Amino acid sequence: MPAPVTGVLADLERILLTPEQIQSRVAAMAAELNRHYAGKVVSVLALMDGALFFVADLLRHLDMPVRLYTLSASSYHGGTASSGQVRMNWPAGLDFRGQDVLLLDDILDTGLTLSVLRDKVAAQQPASLRTGVLLAKKRERVRDVVVEDIGFEIEDEFVVGYGMDYQGRFRNLPCIGILNPA
Ligand code: 5GP
Ligand code: MG
Repeated sequence: MPAPVTGVLADLERILLTPEQIQSRVAAMAAELNRHYAGKVVSVLALMDGALFFVADLLRHLDMPVRLYTLSASSYHGGTASSGQVRMNWPAGLDFRGQDVLLLDDILDTGLTLSVLRDKVAAQQPASLRTGVLLAKKRERVRDVVVEDIGFEIEDEFVVGYGMDYQGRFRNLPCIGILNPA
């Protein structure tokens, strides 16, 4: 008899990506970045809080020198659909002029967050700019955005786990799953 599912996992309707699937894809993404950035210093700009686990795992596989910057940006504001407005707190003095910038987020949905961020960084004239996400939803984008690195393409469903929350919960799940409607 399988062990009963308890704790936060009990609130999931189903598991979309297991910890093993996530870890092996993240390692493959890092291998590609190691090839691309060989010999360079990379300035990583990570969007908090959702990308926390993805960035922590990905960066530990990178073998070039890395500077890490974090930024809080949100477009969901607690619900399960984008509000259409991006809030962010760009720190005074944060300037990427002349740097090789890698912008990282957990998930690409409408494209609004990353297009706003990409434009903001691009305006500072970095030496190069590349964007990566762990997940990309198969849906129309509200804003066109270039994303060079995509971990997994997923259906247009609200996901939680591995850093992603619903009203502040579920970030600590090691897997990524779909919430139980109840
Ligand atoms: P976009 O601006 O592309 O619509 O949304 C990107 C942001 O919305 C992500 O950084 C993430 O914080 C949030 N988001 C989008 N889809 C989901 C989802 O399915 N689950 C969770 N927890 N957050 C999401
Ligand atoms: Mg986010």
